[in-house]
Amino acid sequence: MKPPPPLGLVPVPVPEGFPGHVEFVKSASKLAEAPHQVEPEVCFCGRSNVGKSSLLNVLTNRNRIARVSNTPGRTQLINFFNVQDVVTFVDLPGYGWARVPTAVKATWGKTIQGYLEDRRQLCLALLLVDIRRTPGDEERGLLAWFEERGLPCLVVATKSDKLKRSQVYKATREIAKALDVPTSDVIPFSAPAKTGRDEVWGSIMAHVEGAGE
Ligand code: GDP
Repeated sequence: MKPPPPLGLVPVPVPEGFPGHVEFVKSASKLAEAPHQVEPEVCFCGRSNVGKSSLLNVLTNRNRIARVSNTPGRTQLINFFNVQDVVTFVDLPGYGWARVPTAVKATWGKTIQGYLEDRRQLCLALLLVDIRRTPGDEERGLLAWFEERGLPCLVVATKSDKLKRSQVYKATREIAKALDVPTSDVIPFSAPAKTGRDEVWGSIMAHVEGAGE
C-alpha cells in the first residue's frame, strides 16, 4: 500500500446526488459475522450522542440511513452500510456509557478490537469528538491503538455550529493539541449547516483510492 495522503487538506466538492446508492448491509456482533465484500471500509467511532448518526446522514445525503444503528438491539453491534459499491461505512457502537456494566464493556471492547485489528479492508477511521469538549483518555487510547495498527485517522469535531465562528479554529487547534495530531487532521463539522462535508469526503476518497495499492 502506498503511504496515506495527508488528511483533511483536500475538500472534494461532492457531485450533486452523490452517493446515489446507499443501503444497510447487516449488523455483526463479531468479526466472523461481518459481510464478505472486499470494498474499502471507513469506520466511524465516538461517544454516544457525539453526532455520529447525523454525520452518517449528511455524508450519505439521507435523512435516516443511520437510524438503523440506533434501533434497539443494534446499538451495540457493528453496522455496515454499502455506499455506492465504492466504500463501506462501518458504524461502531458508541463508547462512554458510564452506566454500562463492566462485563458488557469488556464484550464491547473485544468486538471492536477484533474488528479494528483484523479487518483488512479497513483503510480509515473517523474519530468523532464534540468540538466543545477536550478529548480525554478514551480518545487518546483509540488514536494510539490506530497508530500502532497503521490505520490513518481523521478527527471530526462535531457540532461546530454550537460555537461562534471565531471560536471554531481555536477549539479545533485545542483538540489537535490534546490528541497530539496536526490541526489539518481535525475537521470542524456541522450537521445542520453541512460545513466540513466536502473535507470529510475528500479524506475518505483519498484513502479509498489509495487502498489496496
Ligand atoms: P449519535 O448518538 O452519536 O448517533 O448522535 P446523533 O447524531 O443522534 O446526535 C445526538 C444529538 O446531537 C441529536 O440531538 C442531534 O440533533 C444533535 N446533533 C448532532 N450533530 C449536530 C450538529 O452538527 N449540530 C448541532 N447543533 N446538533 C447536532
